Amino acid sequence: MDMIDAAPPYKLRSIEDYEPLIGAEHVARLLGKAGRMRDLHVVNVNSTYYGGGVAELLSSLTLLMNASGIKTGWRVIEGRPDFFSVTKKMHNALQGAAINLTEQKKQVYEEVVYENAVRMHLDHDVVIVHDPQPLPIIQHFRKKSPWIWRCHVDLSAPNAELWDYLAPKVERYDAVVVSLPEYAQRLSTPQRFIMPAINPFSTTNKELSEEEIDERLAHYGIPTDWPLVVQVSRFDRWKDPEGVIEAYRRARKQVDCTLVLVGNVATDDPEGQEVFEALHNCAEERIRILSVQDSALVNALQRRAAVVLQKSIREGFGLTVAEAMWKGTPVIGGRVGGIRHQIEDGVSGYLVENVEQAAERIVQLVADRALRNRMGQAARESVRQRFLMSRLMEDWLDLIGSFEPNFRLRGATER
Ligand code: UDP
Repeated sequence: MDMIDAAPPYKLRSIEDYEPLIGAEHVARLLGKAGRMRDLHVVNVNSTYYGGGVAELLSSLTLLMNASGIKTGWRVIEGRPDFFSVTKKMHNALQGAAINLTEQKKQVYEEVVYENAVRMHLDHDVVIVHDPQPLPIIQHFRKKSPWIWRCHVDLSAPNAELWDYLAPKVERYDAVVVSLPEYAQRLSTPQRFIMPAINPFSTTNKELSEEEIDERLAHYGIPTDWPLVVQVSRFDRWKDPEGVIEAYRRARKQVDCTLVLVGNVATDDPEGQEVFEALHNCAEERIRILSVQDSALVNALQRRAAVVLQKSIREGFGLTVAEAMWKGTPVIGGRVGGIRHQIEDGVSGYLVENVEQAAERIVQLVADRALRNRMGQAARESVRQRFLMSRLMEDWLDLIGSFEPNFRLRGATER
């Protein structure tokens, strides 16, 4: 069934809107590539509509693809709490934690994915399945087109027992996409590397006036008399919120600043509430801890902050880093995963390995406005060149365009 053309105010952002940011030549190249794929029917499958990088990516990328003439859908699997409890343990284990992988857990996982497969009626030209939650869904379909598993987590040291269990499921796919070459695994399936990107026009990233920023901060009673040190993250131990508070407390002995930790809890993350509650005792006048889903607040904080932290212990990519850098705010990030690929240490931000280093860098940046401005400018420029959604769309078009009729990737020698 065809949709009727949208009437105002429902105008989608299109690739042409990126021209002031990426130039006319790049836009023309993208339009050419998209034009050659017109009417392709693509579907994405993941496990939450909001509350994490994957949802943030899909909400923007699927609309941009549609605006470019490629019919791109987004389906979310449903699951009982015990399912998401198992899949969160898998997520943790893929990032290196231990797991007690019982038959019962495997059964819950596989059964719920099967039930979703029954409901999903996937009959598309390309199927892209995100992360471990829906991974086994492929085994319930007779494949008529390329299937891609897109894994967003930090796979630098996955738990071996879990990987052995998942690998045969992964190998049913025609291609695997991870964010970084260092996440590549031993697989018979060809692997490709695509880093995520941000939508400069979204509520999280669009330009805001100083008045709009003031209004959002005032709405949550966030004091603005002292410089703000901010971390925006799901409440998740991998994001090291305790380490952030500890680094702030040390820095606070030398400079006046206010810490704001803002986080949310994704529907597929049953541990978030617990992590949030454990932090609650740390809250005080100068340490604000907010559990709220408000993208405009995220935007305002990333813009007004003197320093943004992303002190993760593992991080597949870390969209929050690119988001803050795009706003000209220097980021102090953990020297892990995708953060290392975004921040050029000492140029567009700082990479740190522990609480002491984070504290030192907070003091340095809060005390030196000129340094902040310099780093902020370098940060914004690097996001403009490497981490805008236009680049991400092109990477996907190139990948999809390189499947041969037998679903093999052109040039793939892996199998
Ligand atoms: N986010 C948000 N509100 C919050 C915390 C996070 O809107 O309270 C958004 C954040 O702006 C980013 C995404 O959720 O777009 C998180 O993506 P990231 O890659 O940093 O981490 P993930 O949650 O996927 O591990």
